[in-house]
Amino acid sequence: MTAIDSLPPLRQVIADHELSARKSLGQNFLLDLNLTAKIARQAGDITGCDVLEIGPGPGGLTRGLLSEGARKVLAIEKDTRCIPALEEIANAYPGRLEVINGDALEIDPLAHLTPPVRVAANLPYNVGTELLVRWLTPRDWPPFWQSLTLMFQREVAERIVAQPGSKTYGRLAILSQWRADAKIVLSLPPGAFTPPPKVSSAVVHLEALPEPRYPANAATLSRVVAAAFNQRRKMLRAALKGTAPNIEDRLIAAGIKPTDRAEQISLEAFCALSREIDKP
Ligand code: SAM
Repeated sequence: MTAIDSLPPLRQVIADHELSARKSLGQNFLLDLNLTAKIARQAGDITGCDVLEIGPGPGGLTRGLLSEGARKVLAIEKDTRCIPALEEIANAYPGRLEVINGDALEIDPLAHLTPPVRVAANLPYNVGTELLVRWLTPRDWPPFWQSLTLMFQREVAERIVAQPGSKTYGRLAILSQWRADAKIVLSLPPGAFTPPPKVSSAVVHLEALPEPRYPANAATLSRVVAAAFNQRRKMLRAALKGTAPNIEDRLIAAGIKPTDRAEQISLEAFCALSREIDKP
């Protein structure tokens, strides 16, 4: 295999900077640079794009994104120990890597980015899910990003792309598929990471749609879907009782049987119901 850049191998970077993986930060590192370049390629054509990377760690994916031609990478990393290793990458790619030491849940990266922007990350899954929901639920659309290429536990990835009728279909599927095309583009076994996590992982690629697939108010849709799936075993007329007056009539007007359960309802029907609920 050929080297993707002239920087030291990641095992050496980790040894030089004493970056022993910390469980509290969800650290499972990718050390194979051919694999990180392959993940970077899943982000689409990144040449001419700024790429926001969350949780670069020792910089495996960062190096993949830079070697694949990202115009600029903005990398936000919480672990201060990783910053000197990332600065070495910045020196090897002058003017193309900006590193911020901080918590991605607290930092607004927009001032540091120039459109078009793509997002790529291998994050602890709880932070990844929280950020995904935030990125999918701004009031206005299109968002600041063109695409999201994110590593998740396989089970979470399946929830993002799930279809009605499946056990994994729920809020994450509806929010993802309403405003984006979502697909699983890569599957990775635990052994791809150091240390290996307990479960398999998958990379999900979401491409933002120019406008939502069906009209609906974002806040109403979020509220309805959360209520419907919070009590997914209940019939919708019961699960949605508190969401609006005359809920049975509104369900019928949206073409939904009040005795159906959330799991059976398509994205299109949830959007129709949100519009009915927003009627006075
Ligand atoms: N991207 C690297 C790779 O693929 O080898 C590291 C992946 S590791 C699963 C997750 C990284 O996210 C760690 O470096 C961790 O310190 C960082 N991290 C965890 N929580 C974070 C947060 N809230 N904000 C920014 N970085 C975070």
